[in-house]
Amino acid sequence: MRVVVVGTGYVGLVSGVCFADFGHEVVCVDTDPAKIATLRDGGVPIYEPGLETLLNANITAGRLSFTTDLGTAMQGAQAVFIAVGTPSRRGDGHADLSFVYAATEDIAAHIEDFTVVITKSTVPVGTGDEVEAILARTCDPAHFAVVSNPEFLREGAAINDFKRPDRVVVGTEDPRAQEVMRELYRPLFINETPIVFTTRRTSELIKYAGNAFLATKITFINEIADLCEAVGADVQDVARGIGLDKRIGAKFLHAGPGYGGSCFPKDTLALVKTAEDYKTDLSIVSSVIQANTDRKTAMAYKILDACGGDVSGKRLAVLGLSFKPNTDDMRDAPSLTILPFLQKKGADIMAYDPAAIDEARPLLPGVSFAPDAYVALEGAEALILITEWDQFRALNLDRVRGVMRAPLVIDLRNIYRPTEMRAQGFTYFSIGRA
Ligand code: NAD
Repeated sequence: MRVVVVGTGYVGLVSGVCFADFGHEVVCVDTDPAKIATLRDGGVPIYEPGLETLLNANITAGRLSFTTDLGTAMQGAQAVFIAVGTPSRRGDGHADLSFVYAATEDIAAHIEDFTVVITKSTVPVGTGDEVEAILARTCDPAHFAVVSNPEFLREGAAINDFKRPDRVVVGTEDPRAQEVMRELYRPLFINETPIVFTTRRTSELIKYAGNAFLATKITFINEIADLCEAVGADVQDVARGIGLDKRIGAKFLHAGPGYGGSCFPKDTLALVKTAEDYKTDLSIVSSVIQANTDRKTAMAYKILDACGGDVSGKRLAVLGLSFKPNTDDMRDAPSLTILPFLQKKGADIMAYDPAAIDEARPLLPGVSFAPDAYVALEGAEALILITEWDQFRALNLDRVRGVMRAPLVIDLRNIYRPTEMRAQGFTYFSIGRA
């Protein structure tokens, strides 16, 4: 099947590459000519493990190509995915749908035979109706169907998540569109991946409800971590003790500095805005948003306290800047709250991240960047661990202590054990543990 993917960001690019790997003929389209030029040369503009290899294999196999010309891409296409960004709208927190609607207008100009237009972007309930209305202004309604097919992949594990998902959600009641969707996901049907067919509005809401639930789970364990610190309990044992209950599940129970990233912050906000529009109370999600915002600031104060209440003129080493490991995505990363706070208090920060430095540099003026963890630690009076990249789990602690000016570690991801760190001579602070 000929498939077009509009938008080659984290979701569009991974989807396009994986659909090609499923055997479809895929053309990826973006308005950014520099991105398309890189992709045509077999380069990948984002950090995503395994993506470059799979991309090049499918280019070589002749199933994957890239263009800025949507008209050419759409010739003979049966399915067109919209995978453009839906950031928070400045000022009010609603999802900004301008990219989705602009892409829809572009698509409308090129529909000829029956085409399924699929929103893979995360879009609020009712967006599919608006996409349909835009298409209907210029296209015969017999020539298209609009489907919601939200994406659940995680950056850093995106290929596996796309090819082996827990489920696929398809929102359409149009039998022709259902047939096209079945064909698109045929390898997953064969694997017996659950495919949830539902209405378009329900599908749109499933994505937001899922993200809001996960954000709630993280925020819940973060608050329990604070209580653990107050009462002398261990949050990791609490997480294990409750996570083994199958009704709860062990995932997303890692206490830390608050969630960030390109999805949870904007999607929780947009869900609350939708609820407000429909005069429905989502007080749990509103509380989660507030608690998570407060948490990032609380982490900055925690660091300040650990440094004796004064970081003025002190060299601090920060390891990990991206919102989570295995991605270069800096969107809403906790580091973007914590580092400027410490700088304002007079700290001199040297940071290292295995992939996100290029993204971080313009967002963190005044921060110095090191070529590796040990250079960042030279002469530092504290090590602040913000993102749990695997390489930080295996630091040579003798070397760390040797290069630092003072052996103070503030581990916001609990990757080290308090007893071991203290035995090694570190003053060690972590989350929710004595
Ligand atoms: P992104 O910002 O990385 O990429 C969006 C791309 O779309 C950019 O390359 C941009 O140039 C391009 N674009 C914008 N308008 C266009 C147009 N009219 N025609 C062609 N290209 C256009 O975004 P992303 O992180 O991939 O997210 C895309 C959507 O997927 C969002 O709605 C997001 O919420 C959702 N989502 C993201 C993730 C994730 O982990 N990043 C996971 C699940 C769902």
